[in-house]
Amino acid sequence: MKTLTQLVLASHNAGKLKELQAMLGETVRLRSVGEFSQVEPEETGLSFVENAILKARNAARLSGLPALADDSGLAVDALGGAPGIYSARYADGQGDAANNAKLLAALDAVPENQRGAQFVCVLALVRHADDPLPILCEGLWHGRILREARGAQGFGYDPLFWVPERGCSSAELAPAEKNLLSHRARAMVLLKQRLGLADA
Ligand code: IMP
Repeated sequence: MKTLTQLVLASHNAGKLKELQAMLGETVRLRSVGEFSQVEPEETGLSFVENAILKARNAARLSGLPALADDSGLAVDALGGAPGIYSARYADGQGDAANNAKLLAALDAVPENQRGAQFVCVLALVRHADDPLPILCEGLWHGRILREARGAQGFGYDPLFWVPERGCSSAELAPAEKNLLSHRARAMVLLKQRLGLADA
């Protein structure tokens, strides 16, 4: 691939841009798709991969530049992978606290040894809107769903996600530590390898 110097990130979230830019390093500058349009595409895919590609193509089409998208969520084994791509709107758009309450209720009768789950992140990079060969990198972070919330850091399902390698919930991890272990970090390591960027 021609050397990349800038990529449009298919997200309007400034925090996500900052986090991904820090992981990516300084060689490639991330720009927000918000510079080109405020309209977000409908996420009509049935998988993280489909939605990541759809968002990346949309950002490339709007900007005329190579584009990167991430799609992420929580997949719970006992729920057949739910809430999955619907993680953000699991409780019909009522927000993180309602999502977490719904998850706890759904797993109420599920014993400890069947509460496995993974955070999933798929990064999709397209060189142009009709790129027939998107670069796809997946990051999985395995853990277990707690019976009650712990910790105040992070967002989303972090207070319910037990991180076995640290013996705490992901909402009890310092942000820098989460950024070393998380699904997004794991996917980004792979992307950096694919792009031949340093310290991958
Ligand atoms: P998005 O990819 O930022 O839209 O995230 C989708 C949804 O998945 C979020 O709204 C959260 O509910 C959940 N999610 C994704 N990544 C994380 C994480 O690192 N911690 C907690 N929840 C997450």
